[in-house]
Amino acid sequence: MSDDRDTELADALAEVGRRVGQALTDALDRIRPAFDALAEVANRPEVRAVIEHAEKAMRRRPCLCFCSRAHPADHGICETFDAVITGQYRSDLLGDIEVPLCAPCAAARAAHEFAG
Ligand SMILES: [Zn+2]
Ligand SMILES: [Zn+2]
Repeated sequence: MSDDRDTELADALAEVGRRVGQALTDALDRIRPAFDALAEVANRPEVRAVIEHAEKAMRRRPCLCFCSRAHPADHGICETFDAVITGQYRSDLLGDIEVPLCAPCAAARAAHEFAG
């Protein structure tokens, strides 16, 4: 008795699994051309160059200088994705915190501090 029910259940589950599998296969077949097109685009040299550039930029430390406040006179010198040293940033909220700075910003901050 119970063996029959188990078999029925197993058959029903198998059928559901088969249908889901088929639906997934159909869905994948439908979106595969889009994936292929995407992969093809991603492999083009000019696109690879952009991706590599982005990856390099991500690996670099960004300069977290608050340029317009720290050295308003030299706004725009910042090498935003080329932080090379760590500087101090004084915040009323956080106290003294260490922030990555790019070389031009560090110099400008020092000059600003010296002058001001
Ligand atoms: Zn700066
Ligand atoms: Zn900077």
